[in-house]
Amino acid sequence: MDYVQEVLAGVIAKNPAQPEFHQAVREVLESLRPVIERNEEEYRRNALLERLTTPDRLIQFRVSWVDDKGQVQVNNGYRVQYNNAIGPYKGGLRFHPSVNQGIIKFLGFEQIFKNSLTGLPIGGGKGGADFDPKGKSDREIMAFCQSFMTELYKYVGADMDVPAGDIGVGAREIGYLYGQYKRIRGVYEGVLTGKGLSYGGSLARREATGYGLLYLTEQLLKANGHSLAGKIVAVSGAGNVATYAIEKAWQLGAKPVTCSDSTGWIYDPDGIDVALLKQVKEVQRARLTEYAAARPGARYHAGKGVWSVKCDVALPCATQNELQLEDAELLAKNGCIAVAEGANMPTTLEATGYLQSHGVLFCPGKASNAGGVAVSALEMSQNSERLGWSFEEVDEQLKGIMTHIFTAMDEAAKEYGMPGNYVVGANIAGFLKVAEAMTAQGIV
Ligand code: NDP
Repeated sequence: MDYVQEVLAGVIAKNPAQPEFHQAVREVLESLRPVIERNEEEYRRNALLERLTTPDRLIQFRVSWVDDKGQVQVNNGYRVQYNNAIGPYKGGLRFHPSVNQGIIKFLGFEQIFKNSLTGLPIGGGKGGADFDPKGKSDREIMAFCQSFMTELYKYVGADMDVPAGDIGVGAREIGYLYGQYKRIRGVYEGVLTGKGLSYGGSLARREATGYGLLYLTEQLLKANGHSLAGKIVAVSGAGNVATYAIEKAWQLGAKPVTCSDSTGWIYDPDGIDVALLKQVKEVQRARLTEYAAARPGARYHAGKGVWSVKCDVALPCATQNELQLEDAELLAKNGCIAVAEGANMPTTLEATGYLQSHGVLFCPGKASNAGGVAVSALEMSQNSERLGWSFEEVDEQLKGIMTHIFTAMDEAAKEYGMPGNYVVGANIAGFLKVAEAMTAQGIV
């Protein structure tokens, strides 16, 4: 067994029944082989990969809260503080019934490399709860968020660990979490990002992940002799990432024709109406059937199916493992040029391999969706200097960061003899800085 196989076997043995975590570690470690082989003796001696794959700490706590009927409910809350070699832990909170230790660890592990790739001083972390915000009243959401923060506040802080939003955690939840932190600690500090503009949020944070995804996709296409203008784009999801990806796709001259939620999907041959999508999802918090009802040309289908639509560019922006082998086969057959991940790990390993071996450009989420955390880091900077930057200023920095990410992963892939393999490029570029910092800081 080589070093990578040994570490992988150890991770699987020590973390049983956590398939998403195993998948993320496997994908990263296997693509790091060229670097590991060059430095194997040193990395082995320092157990670098063992330390990298073992979180600094994983906190699990009970969240008790009272629903509108007076019934006490109990959920599990989590925070994984994975690696702070290059900066304070940073990563979102996810509220979804599927959340468990394995999901949080997969997301936290990925976050280390994503955050490093941005070039900004942020370490990797992630958290959340197996709480389902769907169908809950505003008061119930507030009760849950307050109880969650009553435990979490012990472990976070502006220079220690700075959570943000993710699935099920948007502006409303961040507001309630921030209010409770302030109430308990009595300090007004940038402990969370994705805050409202009236209390320390950054302009362009809401748009950042979706916009960044399109900035990077534009670079990806350009470097490979294509342009985004005039392209048909298939997007999955109808949340924060998907909505602003769709908005920016229009702005860059492409035509986004699909979106989806967990019950069904929309094909709109005239292109997705962003204002209507926002009305349905951000204001009414309704299902996509409402979108179809308001837009006669659009078709609603129950279940999965976005990837069956003929498109030039596919942007999975919903959740993990939503683009599977059969979807990759369909996309390639229909002439898709590029897949760039807006969500975290939406493409299975088999689907990624198929796309790469069938000439479809593929960009992993840790590079293409890093715009969100990058602007979160800019929000931290603004909070530290107690100033707010203009939308244009933040957007310009975001564009620069996404271009830097593309260049870094493109060059790393070339340097290690795998040009065009952006999975390898992103992992190597992200890893090198963290490995160097870990080595410099000794055995901790
Ligand atoms: P939201 O909660 O705003 O939206 C998620 C969307 O995906 C919704 O349309 C939701 O449908 C759908 N979805 C969620 N779970 C499933 C599922 N199991 N099956 C099918 N559809 C599902 O989340 P975000 O847009 O913030 O996040 C989307 C993805 O992007 C996640 O992987 C997240 O980790 C990643 N990401 C987010 C960042 C951010 O800044 N927000 C930054 C980087 C990555 P429904 O409404 O029906 O649940």
